[in-house]
Amino acid sequence: MRSLASLALALFVALAPRPALAAPDEAVLAAAKAQDGPYRETLKGLVDVDTGTGDVAGLSKVEAVLKARLEAAGLAVSTRAAPAFGGNTLVGTRSGTGTRKIMLLVHYDTVFGTGDAAKRPYTERDGRAYGPGVADAKGGVAMILHVLAALEALRFDGYGALTVMFNPDEERGSRGSRDAIAEIARDQDVVLSFEPSFAEAGIDAVTVATKGINYASLTVKGRASHAGGAPEAGRNAVVELAHQILQLQDLGDSAKGTSLHWTVIHGGTKPNIIPEDARAEGDMRYFVPDEYDRVLTQARRIIGAHRVPDTQVTFDLAKGRPPLPRNPATKALGERARAIYAELGTPLALAEIGGGTDAGYAFQPDSPAKPAILESLGIVGGHYHSADEFAVLASITPRLYLATRLVMEVSR
Ligand SMILES: [Zn+2]
Repeated sequence: MRSLASLALALFVALAPRPALAAPDEAVLAAAKAQDGPYRETLKGLVDVDTGTGDVAGLSKVEAVLKARLEAAGLAVSTRAAPAFGGNTLVGTRSGTGTRKIMLLVHYDTVFGTGDAAKRPYTERDGRAYGPGVADAKGGVAMILHVLAALEALRFDGYGALTVMFNPDEERGSRGSRDAIAEIARDQDVVLSFEPSFAEAGIDAVTVATKGINYASLTVKGRASHAGGAPEAGRNAVVELAHQILQLQDLGDSAKGTSLHWTVIHGGTKPNIIPEDARAEGDMRYFVPDEYDRVLTQARRIIGAHRVPDTQVTFDLAKGRPPLPRNPATKALGERARAIYAELGTPLALAEIGGGTDAGYAFQPDSPAKPAILESLGIVGGHYHSADEFAVLASITPRLYLATRLVMEVSR
């Protein structure tokens, strides 16, 4: 999950009346509890190997472990190269006795560097587990493997097809795996994504909307001249850029959850030269897909008003990770998850997050109800992307219960 640290977390409907308390499914709860210890073993094994995006040696080691685990769980496994950063995407599938197609998705790369696992190996302390990527998202990888084990223990195969996808480059925008995610998701009825949930929020949550990310760029072409001898002959690109940034400040729409922040600027070469070139980069976040066109159109109209004459100004918006927009199918899955958690007497919030995840690639804009997608089914944790990242050990059993029950429910 990119830039989770800057996550703008909006919890909504957390205050909605809790669904009627049904009793927990004792067999599933027992199966989840039985996986608690083995889960922690698996997590330790994953965390103690460096899998920073592009660390092909480490990614290959973990890939081999994951392949063997999926095959041991009865899945037929294929791999797809993930060009751009290296490493392979693993896709495992097994057929069942039902009709519904369900996909479990999470990345196995981290933001951490080679050597970090040796410096900070997996440890448990005061109810928390620590180590590089322990929650984001190796806790989710282990969660999927142990949901498979719990389903096996329950002898449940009521789905039509169960597909597991582990990709190696999410922390760098999934550039090598995004097409495979979209392609395989298109064929599914349900996609469950296992990014972590948010201990900092003080309430457990699953994610029902994620923001898309676009990269804005602004360039100004002026004319260079001597700042002392002939400044009037120049056309100051830096001044024009500053003007443009100020008039492009209000392109966001908070009601829709759209923001555009200018974050990086460049301009000028030498102090005594009127600058000929200047440029800026910006970060756009949005929930509503149409906002891309609105922002692009409005920005291109606004930049027509110049402060410095005879300058050329361009505005571009490069598409990054798409959003998981607010949609009824995801909301309904979120409500089912909340009802399942209520069986354990635990409230569950439905979160909208400012970061982007691979759920955005699984979402099909031309078919918003299929697959139905739910995010943050991984472990509860916090301080993602930092050296004190942690996972909450007490969340293992309830999270295993939730995901196992969900797979069984959506199979019907
Ligand atoms: Zn992640």
